[in-house]
Parts: sequence; C-alpha cells; structure tokens
Amino acid sequence: MKKLIALLAVVCVFEASFAQPAANLPEFQLQKQELQSQLMYIASDELAGRRTGSEGEAMAADFISKNFEAYGVAKPNGQDSYFQKIPFARILPPAEGMLTLGDERFEQGNAMLITNGGPVEIKTTAVFAKHAWIDEQAGVNDFEGLDVRGKVVFALPGNRESKNPYQAFQESAQKRKWAMEHGAIGLVELYRLRVPWQFFQNYLSKERLEMLAEEYQEADQNFFSAWIREDSAQAVGRIEKGETVQVSIHSTGLVLHEVQSVNVAGIIPGTDEKLKEEYILLSAHFDHIGVGKQGGGAYTEQDSIFNGARDNGMGTVALMAAAKAFAVHPPKRSVILLACTGEEMGMLGSAYYAAHPLVPLAKTVFNLNTDGAGYNDKEYISIIGWGRTNTGGEIEQAASALNLKVAKDPEPQQNLFERSDNISFARKGVPAIDLSPGFTEMDEEIFKYYHQVADNPESIDYDYLLTFCNSFVYSARLIADKAEKPAWTPGDKFEKATHD
Ligand SMILES: [Zn+2]
Repeated sequence: MKKLIALLAVVCVFEASFAQPAANLPEFQLQKQELQSQLMYIASDELAGRRTGSEGEAMAADFISKNFEAYGVAKPNGQDSYFQKIPFARILPPAEGMLTLGDERFEQGNAMLITNGGPVEIKTTAVFAKHAWIDEQAGVNDFEGLDVRGKVVFALPGNRESKNPYQAFQESAQKRKWAMEHGAIGLVELYRLRVPWQFFQNYLSKERLEMLAEEYQEADQNFFSAWIREDSAQAVGRIEKGETVQVSIHSTGLVLHEVQSVNVAGIIPGTDEKLKEEYILLSAHFDHIGVGKQGGGAYTEQDSIFNGARDNGMGTVALMAAAKAFAVHPPKRSVILLACTGEEMGMLGSAYYAAHPLVPLAKTVFNLNTDGAGYNDKEYISIIGWGRTNTGGEIEQAASALNLKVAKDPEPQQNLFERSDNISFARKGVPAIDLSPGFTEMDEEIFKYYHQVADNPESIDYDYLLTFCNSFVYSARLIADKAEKPAWTPGDKFEKATHD
C-alpha cells in the first residue's frame, strides 16, 4: 500500500510537470483527422504535383488561403487577399545554337548553354574582360580601357571575390547589363567553376522558370549571353593576350512565356504591447515539381504524378496548423505566415518576398522555415542551421515536450541550409533555420520518396504528421514568446547581411 502511494505520488509529480499550460495550447488540440485530410488534398493526384505556375499549384494556393480565412488570419497590410502575385517567365532554351571562337566550336546543349537572347546571327571580334565586373567602392572596373562596342565580351565566372556557383549564376544578369551598357552585343562566361558542368547543363537545357525582372526590357531580352565549357583554354588564351580572334554565333533564341504564381501570406498580430512590433516569419513552400518528365525522376504510365506529400505537403500542413493555433491563441510577437511558391525552381517565391516584403524586413526578427526531403526516424525532428541562432533552447524544449529528439544538422555536406527558402531570408540578414521531419541521414528510406512519384499521401504516418505539426507550432510559439530577441550566433556568415 505504502509503495503504491509513493508510486502514485511520483506519478502525480510527473504529471504535474507535464500538465503545464502547454498542454492546453491549441497546437496540442490539433486533430490528426484534419491534418490528414489537408495533406490528402494538397498531395492528391488532382493537384498534379503542384508545379509552379500550374493549375494544380493555384488550387493549392486557393486551399491555403481559404484555410487562413476560415481560421481568422488577418490579411497583410492593405491587401484584399492573402495572395502576393509574382510574375514569372517560363523559358525554353534555343532549339539550336552554335558559337565558334577561332577554330573552336561550342554547340548549344553540349559545350554551350545559352542563357539569354532572341534569334541572332553574330560575326564580330571577341574581347576578354576579366570578370566583367564593376565595383566602384573597391576601385574595380573590368571594362576600363576596353572597347567592347559591337563585340562579344568573354569573362571569367562570378567576381574576383567569389567563385560560388550559385552566386556566379546570379551575378550573370548584372554583368549582362554592364556589358550591354558598354555597347557589347553579347556576353560569354567561361565555366571555370568547381561544380560539375552537368548541373548547369541539366538546369539550363530544359524548360525553366525565372522571376520576371521589373526593369525587364526588350533590349535585355534580346542581348545574347551564354556559358561555355572549354576543352582547352587556347582560344580564350589568345584573346586574353589581346590577340584579335573572330567569334561567330548562331542561335534560334530563347522562347519566353509569362506565367503568374503567388505566395500566400497572412498575419497574426502579437499580444505583447512592445513585442508585437517584432515579427516571426513562418514559411513553407507549397509548390512541387509536377508530372511526368517535368519531375526529372523516374515515372510510369500508372504513376506519373510527383505528389510531394513529404516535400513539402507536410510543411504546408504544419504552416496551416500554425495559422489555426495562433489565430486562437496568438503569441507575444506577431507572426507572418508565408506559403511560398517556386521553391523547387530555385527558391524563387521566398526570394521575391525577401525583395518585396509585406512587413518590413527590419521588423522581421526570425524565420522558421519548414521543408524537408522526408523522414526516416519518427523519434526525431531535424534542424538545419543548428547552433546558428539563439533559438536552440526553444527548439529542444518543444521537442522534449513531444518526446522527440533533435537531429542537429544531419548531412552537413549536403549544404541543406542553402537549399530551402530560409536561405532567401538569411541572405537579407534575418536569422533563419529550417525545421524538417525527422531524418538522421539521407539513406535509402529518404531517397525512396525524395522527388519521386512514390511520395504519395498514402505512404505517410499520420500520427507522426500530428507530432511533427505540434513540434513546429510549439517551437514557433516559444520563439515568438521568447524574452530575448532572436539573433544569429555571433560570427555567423549571415550576421552582417543587410535588408537593403
Ligand atoms: Zn522542399
């Protein structure tokens, strides 16, 4: 008897420590049934893989916005809907193209990838312009003393500081502009980067989506630019030395269609008089990769739809769970809910938001993104960017309330931090991490589903979906309620990044 009483006392103490107010929070009242039906819809065949700009993707956006409305989420300032419209260009590479420099030939799709320009026939001289870079503050002007008028500029990738392939690719548009302003008629960049040419080839030799630049002009559209992969540095070596070398270019030109898509954004005002001026940005991409050959992976006639239940149906449902819970019981800080488009096309929706924020980035103190390749251990949630911000305590507290362990930056060599939407905000200086369903390594179980037609809603463990959503929303709440302002760990590479 005594023993039993002692045991009961222990049980009571144990329960008391768990019967903290947390258990009464709306995120712990979420119903598996509701989350399941949401994911079954988001990842249904009807939505056809939610490719950016597709009808199925628009249906997903509509579904998210209707849920925001039903939960009582506020619309972003001055907007009459939850949609942030984004103009995209769907671009098809030229059917045919050839560049001849001296006696070296580069064929479109093989050793040359044309990135810009309509149909052209060019015969002129080639000019070497180092990186074709200008940085007045650093006293750099690679065009200085060069006459590039009517000529084709050949340049090294990136600027002299960086050889990061992603950045080099991004910087192309700016270089194109400078080359054009100096009177050149084409820009050819040399693929002297450390990543395999095949990555660029895969991306640039099929249909792709880009953000339609606001300052988009016919002149930009018609300016020829390309990457080439040299077998030898011979021909380029000659122009580097200042020799006159002829270049001829033939291209049938890129084909461009305008396409619309949207981010879906809502606001939950915070409850604390002071802290509500600070916003926590919760993000999850809702697009995926489409159907059949669009998906880039194996498919069959019976199953050709890339349903994206894990990637990122789960994150999308978690974001809606946050909308529901926070609308009922808001945290101290305000919350921006952002369902992003275009992630699979290169984090385009989040990049657009970061360039056109609906709440000033200066007030956006943290981004908790949720996206992942899938899960292989249901005892975990995973954090990408562990230790990079001061929110580890809150993440661990939320996980332990759910008896979950935290997998801290599994697979660091995959550089996952820079492969989802959190990177768009990190680049603007907003402290950011990604919370993913539990995986401890990228193993067979992950690759069985990751970007495969097998990523179906029928294959999801819905008890785990509930736990995962609980952990995402509760983590977000603890961070939004945290006394200390979220911040980068001192010395982080994005600590000095700025909003403008
Ligand atoms: Zn994803």
